[in-house]
Amino acid sequence: MTQDNPILSPDEVKEIRQRRPERKIAHTSDKYFNRGGKVVINYESMGRFSIPENLYFKDYDIEDINNFTFSRQEDLLENVMFTLNKSKNEDANCSVGDMVPEEFLETLLGMNLQFSNGKEHKHPWLCECQSSKSSDEQQINEMVIDLSTINYTPIVEADRLIKEYFMKEFETMTEEEWAGYLNTKYKDNPVDPTTFTKEQEVETIIIKEPIIQEIEGKRYAFRLARMNDVLKGQKQAIKKFSGKLKTIESQKVPTPELKQKRDEEINLVKEERDKYSILYSQAMSLLSVDGIEFKSDEERFLVYKSISRNDLFDLINFRDQFKFGVNQEIELTCPLCGKSIKRSLRQEISSIELLPLDSDSKGASRNNKPAKIFIGL
Ligand SMILES: [Zn+2]
Repeated sequence: MTQDNPILSPDEVKEIRQRRPERKIAHTSDKYFNRGGKVVINYESMGRFSIPENLYFKDYDIEDINNFTFSRQEDLLENVMFTLNKSKNEDANCSVGDMVPEEFLETLLGMNLQFSNGKEHKHPWLCECQSSKSSDEQQINEMVIDLSTINYTPIVEADRLIKEYFMKEFETMTEEEWAGYLNTKYKDNPVDPTTFTKEQEVETIIIKEPIIQEIEGKRYAFRLARMNDVLKGQKQAIKKFSGKLKTIESQKVPTPELKQKRDEEINLVKEERDKYSILYSQAMSLLSVDGIEFKSDEERFLVYKSISRNDLFDLINFRDQFKFGVNQEIELTCPLCGKSIKRSLRQEISSIELLPLDSDSKGASRNNKPAKIFIGL
């Protein structure tokens, strides 16, 4: 094609058509590919946090699969992390527990795509219309997701989005607010707000740690969540609520009315337990206040809990702007009530459901319900 003649010749059209599928294949195999029997995973986080740009994992063996199949629900995540740590390339000087949830999800997707038969995944989900029922009466829906068609966003692209987000914020600021922002951010190395431009400031912004939030004049430093945080939250919540749950579960319920009342009570306690688990794991991402670190996780949790709802809302809202990794919306339609909802796949899919389970024993030992562990907290 020349500039004078923008119409493609038949040969050029043919060449482009032949080129296209190749490019597509090259793209897929850039993300996950097999090398010497291991799946290589190129992470969208590109080595910016605690793990390198890529890791290699070998397939689960029979012992691992048995292990997952017979794990108690509350031990499953820990068992998976243990197994992945064992099966990753030996020269990788990092731990699966230090992955951010986005990286962990990409790991399990890569394992699934490389080593399991078929790309179609049956995703169990619960519609709101079932939420008031007891867990043995709830009907679980299933949606088939083709895992090979999922879209990903690299962190450099997510950087561009966060720059846009900041630019919009800056544009609404008055001169006074702009000076206030700069004075807060550059407290230690002040800049001149009359000459320092918004474009200059946007240049400095990329997704990285720590995230600093100024609360009542103090600097709170956070990092992104790690899988170890999720595990800690889960353990603390089980410790705190298992006694209470056992007491209710062991109550005798001679009539259907009493059974319903007990089931409702159980659901409430489980909800409370899950909220506590999320809160505790979120608290683990608090690193320091005014540069002073914590002596224990318990202290970290207490300080985090004392942050006002508004400040926490701002922080969580801010973190939600970090959109790297799996980036796909799915539409779930409930066959029971007919309602449709759109959800982000990253928040919807649980890593645990991507595990291989021994299908013979699956029905007997486990119920096929959505796991209580979610990522993207
Ligand atoms: Zn429904």
